[in-house]
Amino acid sequence: MAHAFPYIGIKRLLLNASQISVDGAYKNWILLAIEDVTERHVIEKKKDDFIAIASHEMKTPITVVQGNLQLLERMLNKGEVAGYETRLTHAMESVEKLKRLIINLLDTSQLTSGTKNKMPSVIQIDQIIEQPMREVHSIFNKHEIRVIGDKTLNIVGDKNQLMQVVTNLLTNAAKYSPDATQIVLHIGRVGNYAKISVKDEGIGLAKENHTRIFERFYRVSSNDNIFFGAGIGLYISQQIVIDHGGTIWVESEIGKGSVFSFTIPLSI
Ligand code: ADP
Repeated sequence: MAHAFPYIGIKRLLLNASQISVDGAYKNWILLAIEDVTERHVIEKKKDDFIAIASHEMKTPITVVQGNLQLLERMLNKGEVAGYETRLTHAMESVEKLKRLIINLLDTSQLTSGTKNKMPSVIQIDQIIEQPMREVHSIFNKHEIRVIGDKTLNIVGDKNQLMQVVTNLLTNAAKYSPDATQIVLHIGRVGNYAKISVKDEGIGLAKENHTRIFERFYRVSSNDNIFFGAGIGLYISQQIVIDHGGTIWVESEIGKGSVFSFTIPLSI
């Protein structure tokens, strides 16, 4: 038979001592108050981590933009024009990465504080995939994104938020498959839901990471120094999908690519 023991965790307590005054005169009475600040401390710690990661992740693309602009300036001063497109492309790619990072960071804080509002309407799936496909293709122009399935299915959701989920999945598919040239976006139906899957031929994921990657700030450690990222894209995507009444998951094996799928209610 199992026994229930009371759980004793470590609490952070704040002791407040105040001397009491009555009609302006201090008495020899002391008011002691003990406040449980455990939760406040956890939130502060998360905020500190958040700022540390955000600033660290912003440094790389900013350095790339700065370096390329400096080079362009020097080229212009010398009247050289050869190779300026490459410099501009590198700078633009990094600006795009920064934009995505900032959107995700802002969303994380809005989701955490509960201030992110959903504006649902009936939308056709092509409205949430076309723009992300163009954006991701403009950054990772090596990958062709092929769409299979019915783009005209109607779903119910917030267009911008769902576009963000698609952008995050497509960005990851391209980023984590540097040697591949194809990504497949598959659209299907499962009961009263539309199922959207993004399949890549990239590095893949070990089973033990299949749920952890949806945690905030979680990154697979072996990728940390190779791929740019803050570990929040999938966390945000999962929050958005759950908020829409759907689910998101991954099927993957190391070295064999990944398929990220999510469901969203169909408009019936
Ligand atoms: P980021 O990519 O910025 O680190 P995400 O939250 O989007 O953050 O992803 C979390 C982690 O999941 C990544 O660091 C990476 O290790 C892993 N991951 C995400 N997408 C893929 C993918 N398509 N293939 C392999 N690993 C992936």
